[in-house]
This record gives sequence, structure tokens and C-alpha cells, in this order.
Amino acid sequence: MSNLRKWAPFAAVMLVFWIIAVLMWQSTGVIFYLFNFMYIGTSIGLGSMVYTILPKKKKPAGRRLTLFLVGGYMLLFLGFFAHENMQIEGFFFYLLAGFFAGSVLHYTIAKIFGPFLFGRAWCGWACWTAMFLELLPYKKSQGRMPGTWGHLRYVHFSISLSIVLFLVLWSGYRVQVGGITELYWLLAGNAIYYSTAIPLAFVVKDNRAFCKYLCPITVFLKGSSRFSLMKVRGDSDKCTECGACARNCPMDIRIPDYIKNDARVLSTECILCQTCINTCPEAALGLSFGFDIGGRGLLHEKKM
Ligand code: SF4
Ligand code: SF4
Ligand code: SF4
Repeated sequence: MSNLRKWAPFAAVMLVFWIIAVLMWQSTGVIFYLFNFMYIGTSIGLGSMVYTILPKKKKPAGRRLTLFLVGGYMLLFLGFFAHENMQIEGFFFYLLAGFFAGSVLHYTIAKIFGPFLFGRAWCGWACWTAMFLELLPYKKSQGRMPGTWGHLRYVHFSISLSIVLFLVLWSGYRVQVGGITELYWLLAGNAIYYSTAIPLAFVVKDNRAFCKYLCPITVFLKGSSRFSLMKVRGDSDKCTECGACARNCPMDIRIPDYIKNDARVLSTECILCQTCINTCPEAALGLSFGFDIGGRGLLHEKKM
């Protein structure tokens, strides 16, 4: 029964993908959509099954399996093989061209509307940038850089959007769906991300530094995940305020402070990785469905 409860959130996400697969296939007649969304949903199901079966200490391996199954598929198959620019610039290009497929569909489901249901699960379970970043040595963060470092993500977002607007509106650039130029955009985008994210992780000793300060996609993710139905909830009767969850949270969220305030983890920095749930010695944390408005970032800052 308890395993059934643990599986329910994953099963819900998997079901959503399967419904999307059938709806997209039926409405467009394109069989690829059936394969694409069934694959993603099944990967999430498989990864979560492994995750649920594994003992607590090994659970991150189950999550990383999903990261590689979904993230790897998007990068290698959709990106490198099918020449789909899955970077944020690809989304802007396709949107401006009025082409509602590929990147636009991906961003709409995983990064704009999906987070109303499953928050930033994309970041914890599927992102192809994070799948490599998580292999770096700094899994435990020492806290956030104080000040306004997180605002750099908005600068990055603005630069990406400005480049696209400039090319489309002033230079007359037109996106070539499935063309080799899309592959070049994808390669360049990923090269920039990795060549920034990996050194940054080593400099600030934090695998997820790019996610915290520089990733432009968080502009979308943080907006809709405020309202996420799925969030981490703590049980104040069980919590002893030992702080183990917060010390292990890769996003530096002060989880016990939310529990004290009788609130779910409302921070839009939460990537639903469930590290806190697996770390808690009192089994005081779990995933929950409900409605509340997030955004209150109770975060642990590094002492400089
Ligand atoms: S913040 Fe950006 S790089 Fe990090 S996991 Fe989310 S989408 Fe990927
Ligand atoms: S609060 Fe828990 S689920 Fe959210 S990012 Fe931190 S460890 Fe992961
Ligand atoms: S690890 Fe568990 S008991 Fe300790 S502070 Fe976090 S929720 Fe409370």
C-alpha cells in the first residue's frame, strides 16, 4: 500500500504523457507523436519503478536513469538525429515562425504548462544539461552565492530572446525546420551551456550552480511552478528539525522552515529531486498534491 502511494505521482505523470501521446497522434495523424510521448512517459515510469525499488541510499541512481533516458533521447534523437533545435532559441524561432511542433511543443508541455502540475520535475528528472552536471563531484551545496547572482538568468533570457528577435525581425532569418542549421544552433547552444556550467560548478563547488544563477529556462519554470499541484510536504509532528534534509538539498532550500510555517515547500527553486525525502530519518517528508501559491524562496546562503 505504501509503495502504491509512492508510485502514484509518477504514475500520474506517466498517464499524462500517454494521454498526450494518443491525443497528439489522433489530432495530427502523425504517428511519431505517439512514439515520442509514449517513450517519454514510459521512461519516466521505468525510472520511477527503479527509483521506488532501490534502497534509500541508491535511489539517486533511479532518478539519474530517468535523466539519461529522457534527456539523452531529447538531445541525441530529437536534437542530433532529427535536427530539432531544443534550446530556448529554437523555441523562440519556431514560435515566431508560427510552427507549433518540436521545440514549441516541448517547451509548452515540459517547461510552461506542465509545471502547473509537476513543478520543476523537468529539472530533477529529465534535463539533458543537468544529466551531465549531476556527474560532477559537488553533489552537496554549501549554500547559495549571496546577493543578486540569480538575476543573471534574466539577463541570459533577455540576450537569447534579443538575438532571435534581431535575426528574425531585422535580418529576415527564417528557421529551417529539420535543416542542418538547426543542428548548428543546437550544438552551439549546448557548447555554450556546458562550457559555462562545468567551470562554474568547479569554481563555486556546486553541481547545480548553472541552474541557480544562469539557466534562462528557469524564467518559464519558476513562473508556472509557483502554482504546481505537486510539491514536497513535511509533517510537523514527525519533524525533529535535525536539518538533514536542508543540508542535502541540492537547491539550498530551508525545508524545515516551511514545515515550521505549516506550508508545503513553496520555493520555485525546488526541482522535486526528492533527495530531502530520502534523507529524512523520521520519514517526515513526502510528495503531495494540493493547491497553494508558491514563490517564497527560503534559501540557505553561503557565508562569504
Ligand atoms: S535549471 Fe536549466 S539547466 Fe538546470 S535542470 Fe532546469 S532546465 Fe536544466
Ligand atoms: S526541497 Fe527536496 S525535492 Fe526540492 S530540490 Fe530540495 S531536496 Fe529536492
Ligand atoms: S530531515 Fe526530516 S526530521 Fe530532519 S529537519 Fe528535515 S524533515 Fe525534519
